[in-house]
Amino acid sequence: MLTVDIPIKDPKKPPVLKFPERCVNCGKPKETSMSLRLNMGAQKRGQMVTLDLSVPLCGVCEKKEQKIGNVTWIPFFVSGILICVIVFIPTWLLTPQGPTLQTLNFDLVVGAFTGLVAGLIGGTLVEFGLKFAFAYIYGRLLWSRPLTVVSVFTDAENLIGFSTKFTEGRKSILFMFENDEIAREFTALNLQEKS
Ligand SMILES: [Zn+2]
Repeated sequence: MLTVDIPIKDPKKPPVLKFPERCVNCGKPKETSMSLRLNMGAQKRGQMVTLDLSVPLCGVCEKKEQKIGNVTWIPFFVSGILICVIVFIPTWLLTPQGPTLQTLNFDLVVGAFTGLVAGLIGGTLVEFGLKFAFAYIYGRLLWSRPLTVVSVFTDAENLIGFSTKFTEGRKSILFMFENDEIAREFTALNLQEKS
């Protein structure tokens, strides 16, 4: 696995990055692509600045990626939202309203917060359980992937054979490629000036 470090000079002007016209995982010709959107942590005219990536994949790897989704972030969100609603309703109904105007929505706030926390924990537990259940089918592909809750809080993205992560203080973005050849081509396309 090779890591390519792309420096961020100005978070308001995200770099435009090019990928080789090959599957990022296996190197076969590109058949499709998956869009990733990274939050640059900056705003321009009240809008969040994002770095949009279109990651090339071949048909076979795209299917594998979708299957991984079925046992990771999809169950995480589905069970998370379900648990959130199930916890929200009784908490909201059982929590008394505050006595003053400012605390009038206290029951709603407590219900929403408890629901959200329960959803995050419950969704993560479900995903963690599925990881064990499907480990024998997907192997390393599934194990090496961080839990969705971690990706959500660290702005990291994970695809088959490829993942991204910001360094501390968003000084640069790390692109991790499992395919060394693709990593070298990506470097050649995006980092002409060697530092
Ligand atoms: Zn492929």
